[in-house]
Amino acid sequence: MIYLNLRGQGLPRPGEARPIRAVLFDKDGTMSHSEPMLTALAESRILHCLDQTVGLAAMGRSEELKDLLHRAYGLIPNHGLHPAGLTAVAAKDHNLISTATALTQVGLGWPEALATAEKVFAITDRLHEEESIPRPQPTEGLVELLQDLHSHGVLCAVISNDHQKGIQAFLGQHGLSSLVQGIWSADHHPRKPDPDAVHGLCQRLGVSPSECALIGDANSDLCMARAAGVSIILGYSSGWRRPLDLDPSFLHLTHWDQLSLTPGP
Ligand SMILES: [Mg+2]
Repeated sequence: MIYLNLRGQGLPRPGEARPIRAVLFDKDGTMSHSEPMLTALAESRILHCLDQTVGLAAMGRSEELKDLLHRAYGLIPNHGLHPAGLTAVAAKDHNLISTATALTQVGLGWPEALATAEKVFAITDRLHEEESIPRPQPTEGLVELLQDLHSHGVLCAVISNDHQKGIQAFLGQHGLSSLVQGIWSADHHPRKPDPDAVHGLCQRLGVSPSECALIGDANSDLCMARAAGVSIILGYSSGWRRPLDLDPSFLHLTHWDQLSLTPGP
């Protein structure tokens, strides 16, 4: 039996510590510092949207489109990304639809807006393979925590609205693939924050939600975990430049070294 402690106290609460068999991690803003990559991606999508709509410049509406896209993406120049905004949290298809919606607001018809958004996303998808886009780095202390969990026989899994390919690339680039036994991505159904996403991942891992901890950086992650019956739910708040507005009814941590493991009977 392995118990998880936060700042030396048993979880979910002192005196009522419960053993865990698995830890489910959100990726962007929890396992990884994704903000530089996501910011570069959002800025590139805006530039390519403007490139694809040169007719708007003649009508003096380019600035309006730029502003709409910045706000839709949760991108505030010089202030970073909104940690619960579209770019930070939503899957790619939702970003695409929002981009097309912004295009309709400057006068494009829906078929043209959707086709333009699809073209822009096809161009910017290729940026992931280019060196000019910063690669997300693991948050400080994450690798040591994953190794510790692994050496104690605790399963680790990723639950994210990134696609399987993006999750595997992050894990592979940092030598983490062998430490992670399960992935639930935007390619799976249902996606988070549906509690059944947790149930589906737990089923794959062969554990019940009550034997798990879930750690994420968005209230939607934490509320999903509660609805799914996860016994230990923690908010991680150091993955973004801007401060997070995490629900105070959940426990929070600011560094992975605040977690420790205790073997028990
Ligand atoms: Mg996240």
